Amino acid sequence: MRRMLFKSLVHGPLTEAAPVADAAALAELAAQVDRVSRLRLGRTLFIREIDAGSCNGCELEIHALNNVVYDLERFGLRFVASPRHADVLLVTGPVTTNMRQALERTYQATPDPKWVVAVGVCARDGGVFAGSYACVGAVSSVVPVDLHISGCPPSPITLLKGLLALLENQETAASPSAKSSAN
Ligand code: SF4
Repeated sequence: MRRMLFKSLVHGPLTEAAPVADAAALAELAAQVDRVSRLRLGRTLFIREIDAGSCNGCELEIHALNNVVYDLERFGLRFVASPRHADVLLVTGPVTTNMRQALERTYQATPDPKWVVAVGVCARDGGVFAGSYACVGAVSSVVPVDLHISGCPPSPITLLKGLLALLENQETAASPSAKSSAN
């Protein structure tokens, strides 16, 4: 025990250094998202996150959008607890058999107009879980998807770019069933 204590004092914590955020690029991207969301919606964009069966890697990146580096709410984008308050459903993971009905019911509970964004390669086609007996598969096999955000997992910047692409896509805004993708 004493040896461990001594080692930790000498060598410091074994964690990786925090990533350096590109503040200028982030500010520019966030300002774009803010401008376009106000133009399209005239108010804030409310997002309901749904983990349909992910490994939680995608959730970690989505949670990072709310930390002090990205601080999504300052740009008018906000996560909400109820689908009844949501404009966007942000869905991660392959849809598991157990989560299928929950996803369908969440989609039905979300008022129109609404958009569904599938996050991560698992949400696109099942990813590493494709073919599992416990999975239904892609999010699009359960509910209509308007946008795929690629990555395993996608970084917070990629997520922001995806939300911007969703807002900028006039066709998507007019027709929630139109499909597109962001990298
Ligand atoms: S895309 Fe990657 S991080 Fe996201 S749920 Fe699938 S395996 Fe996990």
